[in-house]
Amino acid sequence: MKTAEIRQRFLDYFERNGHTPVPSASLVSDDPTIMFTIAGMVPFIPYLTGVVPAPYPRATSVQKCIRTNDIEEVGKTPRHGTFFQMCGNFSFGDYFKREAIAFAWGLLTTPEADGGLGFDPNDLWVTVYLDDDEAHDIWRSISGLPEERIQRLGMGENFWSAGGAGSPAGPCSEIFFDRGPEHGADGGPATDDDRYVEIWNLVFMQYVRGEGTSKDDYEIIGDLPTKNIDTGMGLERIAFIKQGVGNMYEIDQVRPVLDAAAELAGVSYGRTHEDDVRLRIIADHVRSSLMLMSDGVQPGNEGRGYILRRLLRRVVRSMRLLGVEGATFPVLFAASRDAMRDAYPEVATDFDRIGRLAFAEEQTFLRTLSQGTAILDDAVARTRHEGVSTLPGNTAFLLHDTFGFPIDLTVEMAEEAGLQVNRSAFDELMAEQRARAKADAKSKRTALADLGVYSKFRALGETGFVGYTDLEHEAEVL
Ligand code: ATP
Ligand code: MG
Ligand code: MG
Ligand code: MG
Repeated sequence: MKTAEIRQRFLDYFERNGHTPVPSASLVSDDPTIMFTIAGMVPFIPYLTGVVPAPYPRATSVQKCIRTNDIEEVGKTPRHGTFFQMCGNFSFGDYFKREAIAFAWGLLTTPEADGGLGFDPNDLWVTVYLDDDEAHDIWRSISGLPEERIQRLGMGENFWSAGGAGSPAGPCSEIFFDRGPEHGADGGPATDDDRYVEIWNLVFMQYVRGEGTSKDDYEIIGDLPTKNIDTGMGLERIAFIKQGVGNMYEIDQVRPVLDAAAELAGVSYGRTHEDDVRLRIIADHVRSSLMLMSDGVQPGNEGRGYILRRLLRRVVRSMRLLGVEGATFPVLFAASRDAMRDAYPEVATDFDRIGRLAFAEEQTFLRTLSQGTAILDDAVARTRHEGVSTLPGNTAFLLHDTFGFPIDLTVEMAEEAGLQVNRSAFDELMAEQRARAKADAKSKRTALADLGVYSKFRALGETGFVGYTDLEHEAEVL
């Protein structure tokens, strides 16, 4: 089943069940304090919080998402992309737990011939929040799943909140697909997230959260004006399972890029683990970059542009590790365009512009990559000679400042040589440089990093809505 077809089945199913289909919002929100759209619920925040009355009681969407906090997982787990599409159904004070569970179970287990996704119930597991007996009992009665396949997990896993004090929160329930004993031990999603792949999260949003020490430890200070449903099903995860391939980088929308990279490099996918990870990173990052540029992001040194630059430069570096020294973007981006154009025609109609940006970025980086690599090799040799295991922060700073090496690239390259990077010294040098920078550039950067200013939702509580945990991470990685 093609990814596009799964997407359509999802939307059709929820439309048949009274949901208004809503097109995906941009990856880049109008709100400068939000880095990227990280979940299907982001465009619906005003309705979910009750700040703006919802124009419809039920909605469904397939939302483009970027999660840079998953970048380390890309290529290593089967299920994490920096770009992915989240299928969601939403209720704004309309239906709640029972219907949300029934809808999800219905779509997953209805046979393909009847418009469903045709999962075998024996392959599915469910988790609920520790004391959420209500969700547990609804699952038992609707799915008939045996007691042992409904696991209870704590706050870290099965209690969701949008951010800090004042933001919406509630217990959630997740659905997992069992990939089989060859991928790990029995025991369910509570013990293994490689064998048991999370495919769908159902959030029962009903509380306002208070202060706390972490995402696993906070108080509930009140009820939201209405009880809402927010769900997210990973389109790529369903696609890789339905397409019978090993991971999300091998689905129809991504695999052509992986193949193009392998061909350029003259390597075969499936031979060595190291090369396979690189090929998967390339396929993922090219697609994410294409989608980001299609939504107007341009490579740069700040905020969103810098995230894009990091992705693009990591592709260059990964291709080089596969033995290709020259330009590869014209081939890789064309492959990604052709794999994505059915779902997103704008990546083709706007390709002249996107390609120009991407190819120029590759040229610039290729020019400095070898010089930078020589400097790094030198520093590595010196560090080793001194018998220490940490590369000085000023080397990382020089590489960043003069050769355009994103810090994570330096960290990655140092790690390959068995060394760490003095990150705090690097951060200090960066901070000093920023302090010297012009006032307007500085304020722009600060605005992006300051995710606490989500003023529209102040109405929720004294301290208001303070953004997303994931977005706070975004600020850190700038
Ligand atoms: P995981 O635990 O596997 O990292 P998650 O709990 O972070 O997933 P949610 O925030 O619950 O994910 O998002 C809802 C759904 O979106 C997930 O159940 C999954 O199907 C999908 N999803 C989340 N992150 C990614 C990603 N990086 N790439 C692809 N799909 C994703
Ligand atoms: Mg995650
Ligand atoms: Mg999870
Ligand atoms: Mg989840």
